[in-house]
Amino acid sequence: MKIHEYQAAELFKAYGVRVPEGKAAATAQEAGEAARSLGAGPYVIKAQVHSGGRGKAGGVKFAQTPEEAEAKAGEILGMKLVTKQTGPEGRIVKRVLVSRAVEIAREYYVSLTVDGARERVVMIASSAGGMEIEETAKEAPEKIYTMEIDPYLGLTGYQAREMGKKLGLGAAETKQFIALSKGLYRLFVEKDCSLVEINPLAVDGEGNLIAADAKVNFDDNALFRHSENAAMRDENEEEPRELEASKYDLNYIGLDGNIGCMVNGAGLAMATMDIIQACGGSPANFLDVGGSATAEKVAGAFAILLSDAKVKCIFVNIFGGIMRCDIIAAGIVEAARKLEVKVPLVVRLEGTNAEAGKKILAESGLNITAAEDMADGAEKACRLAKEVRA
Ligand code: GDP
Ligand code: MN
Repeated sequence: MKIHEYQAAELFKAYGVRVPEGKAAATAQEAGEAARSLGAGPYVIKAQVHSGGRGKAGGVKFAQTPEEAEAKAGEILGMKLVTKQTGPEGRIVKRVLVSRAVEIAREYYVSLTVDGARERVVMIASSAGGMEIEETAKEAPEKIYTMEIDPYLGLTGYQAREMGKKLGLGAAETKQFIALSKGLYRLFVEKDCSLVEINPLAVDGEGNLIAADAKVNFDDNALFRHSENAAMRDENEEEPRELEASKYDLNYIGLDGNIGCMVNGAGLAMATMDIIQACGGSPANFLDVGGSATAEKVAGAFAILLSDAKVKCIFVNIFGGIMRCDIIAAGIVEAARKLEVKVPLVVRLEGTNAEAGKKILAESGLNITAAEDMADGAEKACRLAKEVRA
């Protein structure tokens, strides 16, 4: 789960990480008032959307006076911000953060995330802050430092000191960096984050370390133990199909292709995407309906796939273990009738009561292409998707 910068900044503050004074505003007038209440300028006005790269996209503006802050907020609010991360459809800006601008002398990058391969939380830092870290990773990887954190010891003072040294910080800055790192790590662990990132971490004219940007992502699998995080959710910012899927407790992730996939089991769903690729096609999504899908869940899944205009063909790949194929078949038929599925449907059923399931599909009178096995289904789905496109 992602949250906005202004929310992440509040968390930073609570964990002792210095952030510029700021306030969120939903209207230009509110933004002007916010600036006035913050004291003397200059101010920075930033679009609050769940995306980085706002600066380059015109979502970050500076102002000298509260009047100017109001005007700049008016320009940003309501604009469609298209960044590298939003894709071409962009995001409409509904809120801005008005802060006192930091006088930036130097910019650094620092983040904490989970490195799956190392099975550790890692701290990543760079003296090339302010830029896209992905670019630095490509062009000057030697400027990025990674440090593993031992889960029993936590982030130690000597590790943070070592990192400060690598970044080339002075003695007083290093002292602040140690406190900041420890605060970030405590936040990461206590709130079950998947990412905490500051880019840029600014050193101001007086040598203070200030988080001039704040990013926090929570681990979805741990949300159940943080009811306090639910209030920070902004459904406006979430992919509508992924949001809908979460209501049905379906594991859905949207992708770029045109073959909608409905599969039971995460492993089989991954294999299905692979085999579609191997046949020259491209999956429109990952979808695991789970091992005990009901007809209602199947119908919900269908509705989500069909709401995606990119989908030219649907490949249902079910291996019935605990789940019975005849029940799934009935669910497919019911959903396909109700939702008037217009795209071709390829169905592969295997396992418990597969024959009964195939019979239900064959007798339904619907335009369903039965597949012999998974490879056959993938080939048929790829062919049909191409025909539709042609
Ligand atoms: P992002 O582009 O979405 O990562 O948004 P940021 O909040 O990082 O802002 C983009 C850029 O604007 C930063 O890299 C800074 O160079 C600049 N910036 C942001 N806040 C301030 C500030 O308070 N003072 C100054 N001088 N520059 C800022
Ligand atoms: Mn940034």
